[in-house]
Amino acid sequence: MSTFESIYPYTQETIASYPAHTEAEIAQKLAAGDKAFRQLQQISLQQRCNWMLQVAADLKTNVTEHATLITREMGKTLKEAKAEVLKCATTAEYYAENIAVMLQPRLITSDASKSYATYEPKGIILAIMPWNFPYWQVFRFAIPNILAGNAGLLKHASNVSGCALAIEKVFLHAGFPAGTFQAVLVSSKNVEPIIADNRVQGVTLTGSTPAGSSVAQLAGKYIKKTVLELGGSDPFIVLKDANLEQAAKLAVQGRMQNAGQSCIAAKRWIVEQDAVPGFTAHVKTLIQALRQGDPMLDTTSMGPMARPDLAVEVGNQMQQTIRQGAVLELGGQYEGCNFMPTLLTQVQSNMAAFQEETFGPVAVITAARDEEHAIALANETSFGLGAALWTSDTEKATRLAPRIQSGNVFINAMVHSDARLPFGGVKQSGYGRELSQEGVHEFLNIKTVYIG
Ligand code: NAP
Repeated sequence: MSTFESIYPYTQETIASYPAHTEAEIAQKLAAGDKAFRQLQQISLQQRCNWMLQVAADLKTNVTEHATLITREMGKTLKEAKAEVLKCATTAEYYAENIAVMLQPRLITSDASKSYATYEPKGIILAIMPWNFPYWQVFRFAIPNILAGNAGLLKHASNVSGCALAIEKVFLHAGFPAGTFQAVLVSSKNVEPIIADNRVQGVTLTGSTPAGSSVAQLAGKYIKKTVLELGGSDPFIVLKDANLEQAAKLAVQGRMQNAGQSCIAAKRWIVEQDAVPGFTAHVKTLIQALRQGDPMLDTTSMGPMARPDLAVEVGNQMQQTIRQGAVLELGGQYEGCNFMPTLLTQVQSNMAAFQEETFGPVAVITAARDEEHAIALANETSFGLGAALWTSDTEKATRLAPRIQSGNVFINAMVHSDARLPFGGVKQSGYGRELSQEGVHEFLNIKTVYIG
């Protein structure tokens, strides 16, 4: 039987080993999920919201315990992990307060005496999730879906099984019927029978583009709806009239947080020519001030990457980009999971670090001739998740925003997710939306009722 190992990235020590669930255990989970789904239909929305507030309370009360588990399984700093857990808690509170309005039937004028659309749950939703935000990615799917009456089955990334099981306990202890939210420890190659099961009515995947493509093919085979939140190579555009100091601060934060392992990291800094020297000077100072080290310490601003193979992958992309003509300004060294914060300049659009998603702490600067060129460069990628645009002329920014091919544009701000705002991508970054009202409706049966 296969097992999943959890390894503390900072020391490389194995901290736990979890046996994969057997076929019989998976069958039990599907039955329990289906039972819970039926029970949830008999329970008032108010009660579900009360339980969700208990979820929030657990996350807040036990924030250090949850955060420590995150840090030990994937290496982000304890500070970052605590912020992640608290964001899950505030999202649970947000939806507990606001979901009733989002689930209200929508009255529609037609030739009927009355017609409207209702939003009904469908069954078990399978969530295939990544390790980089091992709580947030799960909760942003689970909270709205469970409140709306679906059950959740989580196949988490193989290196964060402890987080998966801890989240299962949070929902159980909050009072939800057993089976409402369950973790299934299963390898990627064994997900097909779960997707095929009739009780599973949708699949949401957050992860790489190849994983999304493979899961969407399976889901297509069994006619299951999918939401895909995939990779990104977000442009961070700095026009010459921007507040360079502020832009530099958010660029470094956006690129280096979570040791660069974020889908919406500011992966390509596209800077209008005249602003390149000033912007570069600011970011260099900020990158040099980052303190890498023990992720448990409050003084550490950047922890290790999650796995040594991920560091090697980013290292290869960096070296290829240098061979292609980019200039290494800072960093460039890595060992095990520790990757020094790195800055490359004179990066051109045909180079590896511009063309591919770099999932680590490597910042790149590409000069744009003017704003037209900056927009063209921003779109010169197969991805389309987020984008940041910096200029002191917000009227110009709102004019340029529709021309950027992405699921969001943040003007004079860092791209981030927020329960109130829809989140998702276009192009190879996926489809469908999470969060906000749009995210709530993705896995619901939007049913038309027509009274003649
Ligand atoms: P990954 O390797 O694609 O894994 C993500 C999840 O998919 C894991 O649970 C993984 O399981 C599973 N998986 C992989 N291949 C699969 C397959 N063929 N069939 C079924 N399941 C499969 O991605 P990652 O390395 O964990 O995360 C990094 C990627 O996620 C980056 O590209 C990042 O941009 C993207 N991401 C996107 C968002 C977003 O909101 N758009 C957010 C965060 C991350 P195993 O671990 O067992 O392989």
